[in-house]
Amino acid sequence: MRQEIRIEDQRPPLSGRKVAIIEDDMTTAMVAEAICRKLGARETVVCADRACAAATLTDPISPVDVILLDMMLGADDGLAALRGIDPSLTQAEIVPVSAKDRRVVDAAVRLLAGRGFRVHEAIEKPLTAEKLGRALGRAIFPAPETGAVLMQPTHAELAAATSRDEFVPHYQLKSDTRTLRPVGVELLARWQHPTRSLVGPEHFIPAMEQAGLIAAVTERLLVKSLADLESLGAGGQQLGLAVNISAPTLADPALPERLHTLVASCGVTPSRVTFEITESAVLQDPLALLESTARLRLHGFRLAIDDFGTGWSSLELLRTLPFNELKIDRSFVAGAPRDPARQVILRSTIAMALGLGLDIVAEGVETEAERALLQDLGVPVIQGWLMGRPLSVSGLAATVNVRLDGEETLSTLPKETAS
Ligand code: C2E
Ligand code: CA
Ligand code: CA
Repeated sequence: MRQEIRIEDQRPPLSGRKVAIIEDDMTTAMVAEAICRKLGARETVVCADRACAAATLTDPISPVDVILLDMMLGADDGLAALRGIDPSLTQAEIVPVSAKDRRVVDAAVRLLAGRGFRVHEAIEKPLTAEKLGRALGRAIFPAPETGAVLMQPTHAELAAATSRDEFVPHYQLKSDTRTLRPVGVELLARWQHPTRSLVGPEHFIPAMEQAGLIAAVTERLLVKSLADLESLGAGGQQLGLAVNISAPTLADPALPERLHTLVASCGVTPSRVTFEITESAVLQDPLALLESTARLRLHGFRLAIDDFGTGWSSLELLRTLPFNELKIDRSFVAGAPRDPARQVILRSTIAMALGLGLDIVAEGVETEAERALLQDLGVPVIQGWLMGRPLSVSGLAATVNVRLDGEETLSTLPKETAS
């Protein structure tokens, strides 16, 4: 169970680590030192100004492991204290501490992560051992797409992989928020590369779109997925299938008929299939998008607006396009139980979706607290790592039939599998 994995390591969270406390109020600094020692810190240093902070944080002889960063240092702010520092010169993990407005602090956290610092969720003053322990368990390190090197497959490699049929579907469960019973799956593409391990979509989907190969792969994966669901027996046949559709694919006027023919040839009714369209799919030609979405609906498919809230034209898209479902982006779900601003956004998004008669799915649900909040807010279906990482068809087979048998509980959730 995920919860057990998280608390496996019972050592104090600062065990053997050197902590720099960047704080101009000496009483607060002393309290912070005592808390750090209680959490196992090997050494603490206090810096009351920028110059001391810069020297301490880049000291190559005795490197700092953790920084408690007060966001206001007298006339300076905590961001100024780090401004001149090259993030590659410190391996330290930063825990911002502040009495400021939560949204200001969140903006600061994003800025630090964006610059390449290893940053944790911020703590609201007063600092306590419990808050610090919790924040240390919640890293917001730079997103992989900014730090990790993406593969750059060539057109020829992608074409060869397509003809060798190396793209495979993985599945993420969409589950009833209250019972956790699976109601459907989302197809997530993976590349079973001959020499690498399983390759994630961020490494090949954009290149496939540019190479003009994405539509063919989407159609192939759709057929494979429908066969996979069929192979699960009665359990699989109850599940809906959600498929991501890229903007260039949508632009093809022959698409709706082709998809209809494909799905019909698999013996499936189109209403079991939901195509997910991201807001970024706002094509250069809005009429083309209107045409393709309207025609997909006329052919009986369902349509979802994906990653809702991350683009700029969400409301206009919602008003004009014939969606059935709204998927709330995970950026509004992660951390929502402790974040009043995210809760306000969730509430109003949900009210709007209900008012427009749309089904609602919340994405990126990782914790029980997030699930409980979404249930309270009236979100009927959730997706996320709380129910497990995306699964291969065999993983799906092992989960689905068991889980459809009865009410789901957290104790019956599978261990995380590689995504
Ligand atoms: P998406 O459609 O928003 O899919 C959800 C992504 O969020 C998946 O990443 C999934 O593994 C991840 N995710 C799910 N639950 C959680 C959670 O609780 N926490 C976190 N942090 N992440 C979670 P994945 O599989 O890497 O897919 C990334 C994106 O690639 C997808 O985002 C989708 O836009 C695109 N994609 C995947 N398969 C296809 C495809 O067949 N066609 C097209 N056009 N795009 C695809
Ligand atoms: Ca999606
Ligand atoms: Ca999404």
